[in-house]
Amino acid sequence: MSLQARGLRKVFGRGASAVVALDGVDLDLASGEVRCVVGTSGSGKSTLLRCLLGLETPDEGEVCWQGTALAGMKRQQRLAFRRAVQPVMQDPASSLAPRMRVETQLAEPLRIQQFCPPERYDEHIDRALSRVGLDRALRNRLPHQLSGGQQQRVAIARALIIEPAVLLVDEPTSALDAVVAMRIAHLLRRLVDELGVALLAVTHDPTLPHHLDAVVDRMSQGRLVGRITAQHWLDDARQRWAAVRADGLPTGSADSAE
Ligand code: ADP
Ligand code: MG
Repeated sequence: MSLQARGLRKVFGRGASAVVALDGVDLDLASGEVRCVVGTSGSGKSTLLRCLLGLETPDEGEVCWQGTALAGMKRQQRLAFRRAVQPVMQDPASSLAPRMRVETQLAEPLRIQQFCPPERYDEHIDRALSRVGLDRALRNRLPHQLSGGQQQRVAIARALIIEPAVLLVDEPTSALDAVVAMRIAHLLRRLVDELGVALLAVTHDPTLPHHLDAVVDRMSQGRLVGRITAQHWLDDARQRWAAVRADGLPTGSADSAE
């Protein structure tokens, strides 16, 4: 499998208010690789992910899947790309269809991709649920009847049910509390290892790269500015917290009530 970005540039707006979201990004994701792109808010992570998914068109540069540029793909190639490269978005509550029961959410990709005959949907749905540690009794629930962690598990099950080669994940843990976030990260790592899927997660979360045991590229102002370790990213965040503390919030203010 080969997912490549070359010279991606993306500018939003015009003139004085123009924002350069991507400024010459090259990226190669290898088979089975687990990678994080980290950076503070606004550094261009989501724009990069959306370009890789073909949801955003770069102003310059190109994204290639199996050697073919997304921009030049024919209908069949695009369908194959959509099957092979699956997203998991930031907020599971809004990425799941609000009025669709869990089993229907999971049947959708099987139907759209004509992955298997309809009489085999049940079997694939049950397997997908059990993979992400959900009971099949949840099949009839609507998204709002699930916890945040359960919703994200459904979103992961939906991404994996059509056996993609790559998962592209945007802040998968930012809507979750710390313990649930850690469990979701460990689940993702276990699944991609078991299934041989490559994972690229973009995040500002200090702990996600650590829990995923990922290779880490740092992003700043629309550029990839170098490789660091997950530990380095975590230590960096600790230093930023320490700096905020040392700056001294006025005692008694709401922010200092820890
Ligand atoms: P991150 O995910 O790292 O927080 P984004 O990729 O969302 O960063 O955004 C990068 C920059 O591009 C930000 O300054 C953001 O405001 C801007 N931006 C992103 N999407 C749009 C858009 N659709 N229209 C205008 N500006 C955008
Ligand atoms: Mg983002």
